[in-house]
Amino acid sequence: MRAVVVDEFGATPQVRQVPDPSCPRDGVVVRVAATGVCRSDWHAWQGHDDDVRLPHVPGHELAGTVVEAGHDVRRWAVGDVVTVPFVMACGACATCRAGDQQVCPDQTQPGFTQWGSFAELVALDRADTNLVRVPPGMAPVVAAALGCRFATAYRAVTVHAAVRPDDQVVVLGCGGVGLSAVMVAASAGARVVAVDPAPAARRAARAAGAHLTVDPGDDPPAALAARLLEVTGGGAHASLDALGSPATAQAGVLALRRRGRHVQVGLLLRDDAWTALPMGRVVGWELSVHGSHGMAAHEYPAMLAQIAAGRLAPASLVGRTIGLDEAAAALAGLPTAGAAGMTVVVP
Ligand SMILES: [Zn+2]
Ligand SMILES: [Zn+2]
Repeated sequence: MRAVVVDEFGATPQVRQVPDPSCPRDGVVVRVAATGVCRSDWHAWQGHDDDVRLPHVPGHELAGTVVEAGHDVRRWAVGDVVTVPFVMACGACATCRAGDQQVCPDQTQPGFTQWGSFAELVALDRADTNLVRVPPGMAPVVAAALGCRFATAYRAVTVHAAVRPDDQVVVLGCGGVGLSAVMVAASAGARVVAVDPAPAARRAARAAGAHLTVDPGDDPPAALAARLLEVTGGGAHASLDALGSPATAQAGVLALRRRGRHVQVGLLLRDDAWTALPMGRVVGWELSVHGSHGMAAHEYPAMLAQIAAGRLAPASLVGRTIGLDEAAAALAGLPTAGAAGMTVVVP
């Protein structure tokens, strides 16, 4: 198969022929129809993720067709069109049995712990626990986005931030996950303030349902938060850091009103893993800080129903589609891309 191969962290990946994946006993091989380019892929390529071993094939937001199913697989067969959460859970541990597959201690992740979907084929293990059927009529480029950014945003907004109608919601960072969060929160009836330095990202946020957009400029977190407190009439009920940086995390917490909820969606890796937060404010105002890590396969039906009913339109968040040969450059250029919406690879 052809795949985007990372031979060296931070160096431009190569597109070349590699051996086809073998099918796990409990898993499937999927012919990739579409795979999103996510900031987590960029982190993996940079060598920020300790799970990644070289040579490596990135890609974790995928949709495609099952072309081979392992001996132990019960629920899936050749020809099924599927997507998968980026966290593939074991399905058997206490955490999984409690329904929290998204934080399974025994998880695997395509594109991180094993080769991913920037390829014509990808092997996915533990298929019965983790695969999600793509509804008929949903385009693969749209379904691909569900596995990571859209599903993560959906759960971050509806479960962690517990957004209700008329809530003030601040979303910091308007890349794929941020735009998804804007859309889900606006659809829930919230008044959404979207923050991003890129004009194209702010325009996309407005199109996704943001009521107001803010250019953070060079403001340090406290100054940005002061502006956000003003435009939210005294602070947000919920804030989401959809970028993942010390500055956006701190601004998110400081932009809350009393009893507000901050959700950390963007990854904080390496030195940023120890980001300081204004915990004095968290105590005094009874704020809560949530970590967000995707969404388990069993929670997809509620989200898919919202999409089917037209209340959520992830298709409108796809900015452009590219081929495998362009994926390497797209990966390297991600932090400064300035392009609005999600980039999806069609191998
Ligand atoms: Zn992702
Ligand atoms: Zn588990």
